[in-house]
Amino acid sequence: MTAVESPSNLHHHLLCLPRRACSSRRNESVVVVMGATGTGKSKLSIDLATRFPSEVVNSDKIQVYRGLDITTNKIPLADRCGVPHHLLGELDPAVGELPALKFRALAASAIERIAARRRLPVVAGGSNSFIHALLAARHDPLVDPFAAGDGRRGRRERLRYRCCFLWVDVEPNVLAEYLDRRVEEMVVAGMVAELEAYFAAEGAEPGRHPGLEKAIGVPEFREYFKKGKGAGEHAAAVAAIKANTRRLAEEQVRKIGRLGEGGCGWALQRVDATAAVRARLGGSASMAAWERDVVVPSVAAVEGFLGS
Ligand code: ATP
Repeated sequence: MTAVESPSNLHHHLLCLPRRACSSRRNESVVVVMGATGTGKSKLSIDLATRFPSEVVNSDKIQVYRGLDITTNKIPLADRCGVPHHLLGELDPAVGELPALKFRALAASAIERIAARRRLPVVAGGSNSFIHALLAARHDPLVDPFAAGDGRRGRRERLRYRCCFLWVDVEPNVLAEYLDRRVEEMVVAGMVAELEAYFAAEGAEPGRHPGLEKAIGVPEFREYFKKGKGAGEHAAAVAAIKANTRRLAEEQVRKIGRLGEGGCGWALQRVDATAAVRARLGGSASMAAWERDVVVPSVAAVEGFLGS
C-alpha cells in the first residue's frame, strides 16, 4: 500500500471511522518505537512496559491482520509478558488493505483509550507511512511524505501528540546477516507449513486475503506450492525472502530518515542495537549489550520525556 489512496476508497473508509477519532487534536504523551525489521522494536516496547505502565499500539501494516503469525513475525503471546497490545492481529485479512487514514483513526482511538486508563501508549512497528499518518497533525492521504525530494522542507512538521521517538538502529551489514539468519529460524519454526495452510485456505480463490497478500513470504512461496514443492523452488523462495527482507529494512531506514532531520524534522533519539545483534549472531544468550545500549538509554529518554 502507498500513502496515496483514491478518494472513493477514502470515502468508504471515512464512513467507518469512529466520530471522535476524526475530530479533535489531542495532547496525549506517546512513546514511539521505530526501527527496521529485526532490530528489536517489539522487545524494547515490552522492556519499556515493564518499567512504565504501558500498552502497545502496533504500527506494522501487515501485523494488523489475523493469521501468518510466524511469517509476519508477530511477537508471541508468551513474550508479551501480559502487556496489552492493540491492532495486532485484530483485523480480518479478507477485508482489504488498511488505508493509512483508517489506521490513523483506529490507532488514535486506541491511544485515547490507553491514556484514559492513565497508561502510556507505546506505538511500535515498522510501517513508517502508518507512523506518519498517525502522528502528523495534518494527514493528507494524497501526499506521500517519503517521496524523493530535497530533504528537509524547511520547518518541522507539527505533531498531533507529545512524542518521544526512539529509533532502534543496527549497522546495515550486521542487520543483513541477522535478517538472513532470522529467515532460516522462521523456516525451522514452521513458516512453510503456515504458508501451506494459508494457500490451502485460499482454495480456488488466490488473493482472497488482500491484507496479507504482500506479506514477505506469500508471493515468494506461491510458486513453490504451485510447482509441486521442489527443492530448487524451496531454495529460491527462501533466497527471495532473504533478499526482500533486506530490501525492506533498507527502505525502512530511508523512511525513518525522512521522518527525522531529513524531512519532517521530528526529534528521533537513536539507540544502537548493533552490539546486541552481534552478540546474538555469536550465539550469546547474554542480554548485557541490549540492556546497556538500548534499554538503559531508552528508559532514560522516556523518564526525561515524562518528567518534562
Ligand atoms: P509503503 O506503504 O510506502 O509501501 P510502509 O512503510 O507503509 O511503506 P512497510 O511496513 O515498509 O510499509 O511495508 C512495506 C512492505 O514490506 C509490505 O507491503 C510487505 O510486503 C512487507 N512487510 C512489511 N512488514 C511486514 C511483515 N511484518 N511481515 C511480512 N512482510 C512485511
